[in-house]
Amino acid sequence: MKKSEWKYSKIAIKVGSNVITQSDGSLNVGRMLRIVEDVAVLSKQGLEVILISSGAVAAGRNSLNPSKKTNIVSSKQVWAAIGQVKLMSTYQFLFGKYNINAGQLLATKESFSDRRHYLNMKNCISAMIENNVLPVVNENDTISINELMFTDNDELSGMIASLMNSEALFILSNVDGIYNGMPGSCTAEIIREINIDSTGPEKFITSEKSGFGRGGMHTKYLTARKIASLGIDVYIANGMRDSIVTDILKERDVPFTRFIPNDNKKNSVKKWLSHSDTFARGAVYINNGAKDALLNDKVTSLLMIGVTKIEGFFKRGDIISILDENGNSIGLGKSQYDSEKAADNIGEKQSKPLIKYDYMVINEDINTNRN
Ligand code: GLU
Repeated sequence: MKKSEWKYSKIAIKVGSNVITQSDGSLNVGRMLRIVEDVAVLSKQGLEVILISSGAVAAGRNSLNPSKKTNIVSSKQVWAAIGQVKLMSTYQFLFGKYNINAGQLLATKESFSDRRHYLNMKNCISAMIENNVLPVVNENDTISINELMFTDNDELSGMIASLMNSEALFILSNVDGIYNGMPGSCTAEIIREINIDSTGPEKFITSEKSGFGRGGMHTKYLTARKIASLGIDVYIANGMRDSIVTDILKERDVPFTRFIPNDNKKNSVKKWLSHSDTFARGAVYINNGAKDALLNDKVTSLLMIGVTKIEGFFKRGDIISILDENGNSIGLGKSQYDSEKAADNIGEKQSKPLIKYDYMVINEDINTNRN
């Protein structure tokens, strides 16, 4: 198939630890080879593929039993330090069989907080693709700790797919998709398509997780909905099945759950902001008039006249939260003022907007068809 014959031209594929590691944590090289084969077939046929792979911590744990004085956080760091090298060298070797150069990009959640850093990461992945290097992305688990960590690699994969404007994200785990009942029960069936505006499937999803991965089906579901709301097709499918991504793309009869994307695509700044809620440096409280204006479908910037209070210390260009009079979060955006100047201009009619429309996301936008 030529590029034009595929449904997409740019896709991201996320592979979970449970797919590519065995029960003792060691890498399942046979399974990795199958995944690599699937990716190689697609990429040889003109598709741009980015692979997001877990497995570092599990692979490291398998080869080192830390000393008693090493605490659990440091143990994970050391496991990741060992395991990531194993993971990547295995990928390089396996992709090499298909004459594909695989390159590594390790990200931290903080890499996404600063727009310059964010664009740097984008440049790096673009340059790899331009040079036919297959990007393999993972979290830099050696330096990511607790609150600065991604919830899991599902979240990371969503952020990468959005950063790189992928048209589709395939989240591969060891289940076939989301079921309309308890998986394994004889009446449960795979839900083939999920509309992101409906909350129906939530009742079937437990927050339980299994095996080595950090995430479970619940976080997969939330990530998938969020990413689909940005206009990206999301598939949850089983990475234990050979050539699953090719089969889905060729519309063969294989199980998966697809999240129907919002067809109103966001601009790149709004996409970046959609993932930035944990990076807000301050907050702005607004009155009900301003709140109504922002929640309305029209294009509206946040003007100083609607501002009642400024909280925190921030610089011009920092991300700030937008709160209503009761402190409920409405959204977030990039401030055009530093906190001191913003406080001086509270209630002013004539001053420039605090947050311009193009640099703002409203919470509702993330899971609805707005914008
Ligand atoms: N980044 C972790 C690893 O490679 C996995 C995180 C997750 O399970 O989602 O081991």
